[in-house]
Amino acid sequence: MATESLNPRSWLYPTPRGLYCEPGDFYVDPAVAVARAVITHGHGDHARPGHSAALATPETLAIMRTRFDDMPNTAQQSLPYGESVRLGEVDVRLAPAGHILGSAQAVLTWRGQRIVVSGDFKRRPDPTCPPFEPVPCDVFITEATFALPVFHHPPDDGEIGKLLRSVDTFPERTHLVGVYALGKCQRVIMLLRAAGYDRRIWLHGSLLALCKLYQDHGINLGDVAPVSEAVLETFRGAIVLCPPSALADRWSRRFADPVAAVCSGWMGVRARARQRGAELPLVISDHADWPELTQTLKDVGAPKVWVTHGREDALVHYARSIGIDAEALHLAGREEEGA
Ligand SMILES: [Zn+2]
Ligand SMILES: [Zn+2]
Repeated sequence: MATESLNPRSWLYPTPRGLYCEPGDFYVDPAVAVARAVITHGHGDHARPGHSAALATPETLAIMRTRFDDMPNTAQQSLPYGESVRLGEVDVRLAPAGHILGSAQAVLTWRGQRIVVSGDFKRRPDPTCPPFEPVPCDVFITEATFALPVFHHPPDDGEIGKLLRSVDTFPERTHLVGVYALGKCQRVIMLLRAAGYDRRIWLHGSLLALCKLYQDHGINLGDVAPVSEAVLETFRGAIVLCPPSALADRWSRRFADPVAAVCSGWMGVRARARQRGAELPLVISDHADWPELTQTLKDVGAPKVWVTHGREDALVHYARSIGIDAEALHLAGREEEGA
C-alpha cells in the first residue's frame, strides 16, 4: 500500500501528552488537554476535557458535552462515520469500532501510508452501535485489555440468560446489576430487551443522563425509570441497574435481600468477581477477547502492529509468531474505564 521507505514512527509517535501526529499537528486520545485532539470514543481514558479543538463522531461529541462542563470552550468538529477530512497534511476518517455508541477507529493517511488507531473495540454484535469495520492498513494500533489466551468471553445471550434465570428463581429478591454508566448500562438493557424482558428496568440516578443520551440517538431502551421516582415500589423481583461501586454503599441497603450481579469482562476472573462482591458475575465485555483480537489482526492484514493499553506482551508475541512486525506502544494515561 505505502512506500516501504516511509517509517510510520516518523509521523505518528507517543509523547508524554499522548499519541502525536506530526504532519497533522494533532493528538489522538491525548492524556492531557491539547490544542487539537482526535477522540476515538467517550470513555474517560480516551476523551478528556479542556482541548481547544476536538474532532470526533457526532455521538462522541454529544457524550463529551454530557460529561464535561467546559465543552463550550472546545471547538467541536463533528465527523460522521465514513466521511473524511484533512487536518494539516493528513486525511482523517472515522470507522466504526463496535465498542460503545459513537466509538470509532481513527484512520489516518499520509503520503500513501495508512495507520489505524483502533481505540477500544470488540467484534461481537452490540445493539447500541454499528459493528467494527476492519480497515486494511500499513500499521494497526490495537488495544490489549484482554490479550491473554485465557480470555474467552462467552456469548452475551448466555450471560443474560443467567440473570433472567436468577430473577425467576428468586422472585422475592431485587437483582442489583452493577454496570458501567457509559456503554455497558445501555447494552445490558438492550440485551435484556432482546431476550424478551419487557418489564420496567430501574436505574440508579447516575445512569440517567447517558441513558437519555442513548435514547436521543435512537436506541430504544424500553420502560426505564429512576429508582428515586418509585412510589409504593418494593423492588421485589425487579432488575435495578447501578454503577458497580453502588453495590457496596449505603444506597443498596434500601433493597430487600438483593442479589448482587456485576457485568464486566473481568468477571471471568474469579478473584475480581469476589473483590467486586458479585454474587452473580456476568462476563459481558465491551472489549475484544483473545479470539477477537487475534482474528482482527488477520482481518486488517497490517504488516506492522503496535499494541497499547493492557497485556501487550502476549499479543506482541502472538503477532510476531504469524509474521507481523509487532511492538508495544507505551501510552500515558490509559486506565481502562468500564471494561
Ligand atoms: Zn473504552
Ligand atoms: Zn480504553
